[in-house]
Amino acid sequence: MKAVQFSDHGRRDVLEYGEFDDPEIERDEVLVDVKAGALNHLDVFTRMGLGALERLELEMPHIPGSDAAGVVDDVGTDVERFEPGDRVAVSAGLSCGHCEFCRDGDPTLCTDFQIIGEHVRGVHSEQAAVPAENLVPVPEGVDWETAAAAPLVFQTAWRMLVTRADLQPGESILVLGASGGVGHAAVQIADYLGAEVYATASTEEKLAYAADVGADHTINYDEENFADAIADATGGRGVDVVVDHIGKATWQDSLGSLAKGGTVVTCGATTGRNPETDLNSIFWNQLEVHGSTMGTPGEVDDVLELVWEGAFEPRIRKTLPMSDIQRAHEIIEEREGFGKVVVVPDSEL
Ligand code: ZN
Repeated sequence: MKAVQFSDHGRRDVLEYGEFDDPEIERDEVLVDVKAGALNHLDVFTRMGLGALERLELEMPHIPGSDAAGVVDDVGTDVERFEPGDRVAVSAGLSCGHCEFCRDGDPTLCTDFQIIGEHVRGVHSEQAAVPAENLVPVPEGVDWETAAAAPLVFQTAWRMLVTRADLQPGESILVLGASGGVGHAAVQIADYLGAEVYATASTEEKLAYAADVGADHTINYDEENFADAIADATGGRGVDVVVDHIGKATWQDSLGSLAKGGTVVTCGATTGRNPETDLNSIFWNQLEVHGSTMGTPGEVDDVLELVWEGAFEPRIRKTLPMSDIQRAHEIIEEREGFGKVVVVPDSEL
């Protein structure tokens, strides 16, 4: 089969699309004919060898990619939930199933939590062997781009807002980087939950798009400091919740945008992981800082049901053949456009 792959970590030119050994399924795995894959910023970090806490140690060559959707081709002997011909999407979180956190029912806290595409071979390939428990059914009528683009960012944003921040109707929320994958999902979910949604982006086009997917107020962070804008808009009060996946460039202003007792939720730090933090602002204003990673199977089911129903829509900014994988990574790294970048096996085009 053909697969996106790299043999060394580095810049975009380490990526190539070429022949790779056909995957073989284990007893609990499903062989999926991939119809579409989607990119996340995670793919860039993985390519560079940067894990969340430490450098990645991958078996090379590595196939990247955490999001994909396709048709079941074959199933392992222990698999009962799926059969050949089923339409499925990949949900990339891997947990051990027996540590104290898995036993307590929250596999996202697993002491050995891993992500398909980051820690183990991913799914930007013509075929992929995926554990059955990492697949969700995709109804007829949902197109492959939507099915591939939704799982990672919508489960991430859903857990951040619903589980971690406990966002309530009528509360106010600021979503930073609303044109990115997690950002545009968070805006849609916050709007659906009945919150008052503020969103930042860097161009008028991206701001119009954020408004289109549910933001009530938009802030161009290139033209004004977003914490000042929030203070102006809220009479100095601040917002109840801030969604920050930017990190170093925004952290201090995220804290400064919160109302007393407010909550900042972070799921990533694309501009750097070691920002300055004014601890006095945290204790005096009694702020809460919540981390969040991926989603539990229950959270995945809840949010994808809403995607399949059409309540949420992953916007596709660009669809490219997998052979254009370097360009796909460039769009993510250069923050061009808004929404998700999708890659399709060349043989499917
Ligand atoms: Zn575990």
